[in-house]
Amino acid sequence: MAREQDILKLPSPKRAPRLTSRRIGIHTSSAGGVQNAAERAYRLGCNTFQVFSSSPRQWAPYELSRPQCAEMSRLREKYELKPLVIHTNYLVNLASMNPLFLKKSIEAFRGEIERALNLCAEYLVLHPGSFRGAEREDGLLRTAAAIAASTKGLDLVKGNLTILIENTAGAEYSLGASFEQVAEVLERLRGVIPVAACIDTCHTHVAGYDIVSEAGMRETLARLEATIGLKNIPVWHCNDAKAARGSKLDRHQHIGKGSIGLEAFRRLLNDPRLGQAAFIAETPIDEPGDDKRNVAALKALVKK
Ligand SMILES: [Zn+2]
Ligand SMILES: [Zn+2]
Repeated sequence: MAREQDILKLPSPKRAPRLTSRRIGIHTSSAGGVQNAAERAYRLGCNTFQVFSSSPRQWAPYELSRPQCAEMSRLREKYELKPLVIHTNYLVNLASMNPLFLKKSIEAFRGEIERALNLCAEYLVLHPGSFRGAEREDGLLRTAAAIAASTKGLDLVKGNLTILIENTAGAEYSLGASFEQVAEVLERLRGVIPVAACIDTCHTHVAGYDIVSEAGMRETLARLEATIGLKNIPVWHCNDAKAARGSKLDRHQHIGKGSIGLEAFRRLLNDPRLGQAAFIAETPIDEPGDDKRNVAALKALVKK
């Protein structure tokens, strides 16, 4: 992989990036402090963005100080970056059958929620976990219970924070490959904490849903409406896929360069029912500037 070019090291843009009628952003690096992600997202042409608030594959969280959080809020207001989405660390498994690992996961997820509240983020995205060693149905129950346990005593409503359950590619024992499974976790948590869903296009495609053909997209959105409800999807992850539909292989590709293709993203971005959603890419950076190009590719698909 090519070395990532840091947009913060480039001269600042002379003109404000062109914005669209849709909220479009990308997962942005928090290098040098999480507040730097806001400046980066703006320079990448985003009006929304996603970050990690801890290293994605380590348990130790980033240090967050009050001035950093204040700076994040100031930059978000200045650049109208809304919403801020935080993606949970990949190690967290709230369906774990191992009591020690479950305890560690609940503590880590609680930390994710506390940092999301401190950063005034609107959304915290979570993969529902792995049910290895149990039945899938039991896994869904365990995840819902562990999410509820993680939030004890924290006021998500006051903090305006919603937990988003993300659909997954469905490899091995991962929960959440079907919309019904995501809907079930939401059902169990409704009334307990603010919950909704994040739908990832790559995961949807490799889990077997057709979003490539026009009829397939129509049917998949109808299925989403019937299970989760389109209004309960405030964030979409817009990733093209390296692998084939139904392969269960979660490999993200640049927008328009994979097995999903541009037309599917055009239909999604312009669907009037999704006008309030944020569309966030989690595409690879193979060449310097790929992040900016993927944001531009999504924006170019939006009809004025
Ligand atoms: Zn995703
Ligand atoms: Zn993925």
